[in-house]
Amino acid sequence: MTKYRRLGVQDHLDSPLICNRMQRETLETMWSVISERKPILLKYFERKAQLLGIEKMAWYDQLAPLPQASSGKDDLAYDEACDTIVKSFNEFSDHLGGFSEKALKEGWVEAEDRSGKRQGGFCTGLPAKQQSRIFMTYTGSADSMSTLAHELGHAYHSHVLRSQPYLLQFYPMNLAETASTFAEAVLGEKRLASAKSDGEKLGILNHMLSDAVAFMMNIHARFIFENKFHTERAEAELTSDRLTEIMLEAQKEAYCDAFDEWSNVFWISKLHFYITGLPFYNFPYTFGYLLSLGVYSTADEFGEKFPEKYRELLTATGCMNAEEAVQSSLGYDLTKPDFWNRSIDIVEQRVNEFLKVSDSMIG
Ligand SMILES: [Zn+2]
Repeated sequence: MTKYRRLGVQDHLDSPLICNRMQRETLETMWSVISERKPILLKYFERKAQLLGIEKMAWYDQLAPLPQASSGKDDLAYDEACDTIVKSFNEFSDHLGGFSEKALKEGWVEAEDRSGKRQGGFCTGLPAKQQSRIFMTYTGSADSMSTLAHELGHAYHSHVLRSQPYLLQFYPMNLAETASTFAEAVLGEKRLASAKSDGEKLGILNHMLSDAVAFMMNIHARFIFENKFHTERAEAELTSDRLTEIMLEAQKEAYCDAFDEWSNVFWISKLHFYITGLPFYNFPYTFGYLLSLGVYSTADEFGEKFPEKYRELLTATGCMNAEEAVQSSLGYDLTKPDFWNRSIDIVEQRVNEFLKVSDSMIG
């Protein structure tokens, strides 16, 4: 804050907004649409509580697995997973499908599950070679198939930008996860459509809705907390009791008071609050998540032209502000609610589907 005072910025939000090349108005619109529409997630909580056989959800129930859900096969052969991904991508665009097939065939992916190697994945670019490399652990689960799709999405983003001038190939955090989350969504929708049982469908939808909760509620709580923290810290130091108090308030507000137990010491354990070089680390993830859903929702509108529009958007992420990138490619104004509402329409559809699929599973 001392540094901000010296820099003469308006307040503590200027720096993260500049880092993410976005306007304050966009951030405000995004949160206000989320606040308005997030009560649809309460129906998901209610149903999840019924499925778990409890009265009301608590904070720690958020990640509890549903006994009625099956995750599908968990011995999915790697080649089969690659096949499914390429097929789903091809249905969206042969550019994305063809690229992924080439990356897989030419050994850009190191996915072996061996002892001493951690789970998860990441993708790095080799700009001079105009290629990417993916390092991940493939475990045979549907989740690790999604991880592979996610990382291929990142590689595709670099691929689209490969012929741009070197300095126009870099994008900020809020735009970094667009291509990866989008690729996951393409695969997710395909998996949902071809799920063989209600249990499998329930598992896929539960996974999708946990993501929605994380981005629309959990990260919102972090934002409310950090915002309050910055405001109060400008006046005086905060005691640990006060931090615990504002964390509790933030969680209750962000989750519409839906739980009967909270995690008011979350401020101690969440690493992101302590990354001083990247203040407000998390809201770019919410932005990226809703951006990729919104982009997905425009597929019908653009029809055959969509894959090309999508490539235009990815190219624009390297050289434009977030608002310009979306406006110039898809024609939507991120400072207005319309685009964000489209994104949340998809979340709403998924909640309704979750309710429908689980109707017969509750007593
Ligand atoms: Zn990623």
